[in-house]
Amino acid sequence: MDTGKTSDFPADWEVITAERHAALRATLDLAATRHALTRRKLAEAGLTRADLVTPADLARLPVTTKAELMERPADAVLDLDGAELPEEQRVVWDTMYTTGSSSGRPTPFVSTTSDFWDILVVQRRMLEIRGVTQGDRIANLFPLTRHPHGAFIRVLHAAAALHIPVVSALPGNPGPGFTVGQELDAVVATLARARPTILWGVPSYMRRVVARAGELGVALPDIRLVFVTGEGLSEEGRGDLLARLAAIGAPDARVSISYGMTEIQGGLVECAAGQGLHNPHPEAIAIDVVDPITHAPLPDGEEGLILLSHMRRRGTLLLRYAVGDLGVRSTARCPHCGRVTERILGTPRRADDLTKIRGMLVNPALALAAVEGVAAVRDFRFEISRSGALGMDEFMLTVVAEPGAAPEGLLAQRVKDAIGVTPRVTLVERIEGESWKAKRWLDQRGG
Ligand SMILES: [Zn+2]
Repeated sequence: MDTGKTSDFPADWEVITAERHAALRATLDLAATRHALTRRKLAEAGLTRADLVTPADLARLPVTTKAELMERPADAVLDLDGAELPEEQRVVWDTMYTTGSSSGRPTPFVSTTSDFWDILVVQRRMLEIRGVTQGDRIANLFPLTRHPHGAFIRVLHAAAALHIPVVSALPGNPGPGFTVGQELDAVVATLARARPTILWGVPSYMRRVVARAGELGVALPDIRLVFVTGEGLSEEGRGDLLARLAAIGAPDARVSISYGMTEIQGGLVECAAGQGLHNPHPEAIAIDVVDPITHAPLPDGEEGLILLSHMRRRGTLLLRYAVGDLGVRSTARCPHCGRVTERILGTPRRADDLTKIRGMLVNPALALAAVEGVAAVRDFRFEISRSGALGMDEFMLTVVAEPGAAPEGLLAQRVKDAIGVTPRVTLVERIEGESWKAKRWLDQRGG
């Protein structure tokens, strides 16, 4: 057990359920009259406020999809005008946005001051679950973006909540008026000076930074933890990153994956590899898994649609919200760290993750994994487009290779072995991206 003396993690389900019950009662009282989305869902199901008494009764409320939230985000924000509530529950502290969506329009996510205080708890608990101590120093490798996201800024808040140092490398340049960003070599220099014990960012950029440090002969031996979020990371990708870290003097570093969600301004994290993604704040956040078709609750161990419910938010409030992934839940005490909370076992997968290329049904995750395991690849992107009079699918793999490497033939073969379709492989100097997340699978065929 490494729960630590300072941890305020709830002892068992009895405590969690009691806290959820009390919090949800007040939240539902407000939502029934002041939350357009909940009013709509109650009406849809022919329910009233009185029908929802315990947290378990939430299962009677129809599911909210991401598309519904994107279409009318204002409906998901509590209207607390004139409500008799403490000031911290009414003041808007910040508004963050989701990263791109299929429509390309980011969705706002509003937090009041009390919501922000809960975000600090989420962030501190995430660090504790991941084994961070007060002797650690964080390097924030997230770039700044045009829309505020819960990536860059929440790293600063995580450090604040555990009272530990953080250095922000500020990579890249989100726009012409921005003058404080750094190029790759300056980022490496910042790390060499600050000697972080933790790197925190997206795996594709982390790979570039660590590879460049190796090229420049910069050792970063203090690194013991690498926090990745925002993009999936296959076992192959994890192995590649660890090999690169070993080459710069950090052979014992551990990669810790976060299942990040804008809707909790944090993520579900592992206490150790393979132990499941822990809900860091079970008093305030509930995770359910339901049948993808009927939306009926599923027992632990069965794969289904992952739902998120907020127990006590006062800005954006979501109840029975489908985050868009399928996963397997456990509510058993974690055998490794001893915490009691919901854990998602294995890697959640997109509910709509299969696609067709030239008539073949393929799983993009397998194609990504096939490339992530190749050491000669520094960065890459798959693109599918439609070309020619017959509208044939064009399947391309663009690659930034390690200096002197020529992995085209190997990559084409590995991808064909993984998904049955052979990509046209092209080497380039650099892959440009707009978002802080690397888009490694770009489908440009439209509808
Ligand atoms: Zn654990």
